[in-house]
Amino acid sequence: MAFLRSKNISVDRLKRLRPAGSRCDEFHLSVPSTLDLKALRKDIYTISKSHRVDVALQPSSVFRRQRRVAVFDMDSTLIRQEVIDEIARKTGVVDQVAKITEAAMNGEIDFKESLRRRVALLKGTSATVFEEVRKELVFTDGAKELCACLKRLGFRTAVISGGFVPLAKYVKYYLGLDYAFANTLAVSEDGKVLTGEVVGDIVDAERKAQLLEVISQAEEVTLDQVIAVGDGANDLPMLGKAGLGIAFNAKPRVQEQAATRINQPNLLNVLYLLGYSDEEVNQLIQSVKRYD
Ligand SMILES: [Mg+2]
Repeated sequence: MAFLRSKNISVDRLKRLRPAGSRCDEFHLSVPSTLDLKALRKDIYTISKSHRVDVALQPSSVFRRQRRVAVFDMDSTLIRQEVIDEIARKTGVVDQVAKITEAAMNGEIDFKESLRRRVALLKGTSATVFEEVRKELVFTDGAKELCACLKRLGFRTAVISGGFVPLAKYVKYYLGLDYAFANTLAVSEDGKVLTGEVVGDIVDAERKAQLLEVISQAEEVTLDQVIAVGDGANDLPMLGKAGLGIAFNAKPRVQEQAATRINQPNLLNVLYLLGYSDEEVNQLIQSVKRYD
């Protein structure tokens, strides 16, 4: 509060989104037009880090409660694993691959190049590996409920992944999403093994942002009505393009550059950023359960 006063920011309204347990409050603020919002976001991020709370500063507009499309990264966002690391584990090259994945997700190396290098290490892997990995996928807490609630609210939903099509398609099916985009791995002519190559355009950071735009055009909504959730450096352009871009338990560099972030394990927290209270979230979950 002292910080807000020091910037001549006044609190017009307060809504308690989560009154019990760990609190979640929504403040409607009047911010002097002379304030630099970027600098303000940076200051608030520093304060939130030192207090170990999440603070999301969003412009108040007609679109804030009228979001219509939600796009999600897959690995370490909708699911807990990085699928390429899981495939590499089956092939016995997990140490080499995971090291490159980590560097790519931190933005230390170019994603396209990193993917080509990692996929090359998978050469000779049985094509049945996707089925094996699929059975072991662990969904992030709240992923199923969040996607069901968004659907109930009328959202169109998508997974846009730097991972691979068979697994992204399964995630789409399991969560009831509308779209799935990911990379395709080449398979040998006899269909038995991976060749170590990627087919077609690689879904990298720029492609993710483009696909978000394509979906918003197909759904005839403005970018302001799109929310995006991701954790990696390759999600940053996509998060930046969306009206609400959320870094979810993201890598440090992503946290710094994203406009908003959630550092709680459960994906349902996204609904608070959309302005829904605990009571409303519970109503939604009950209604989804009733028709499950
Ligand atoms: Mg990810």
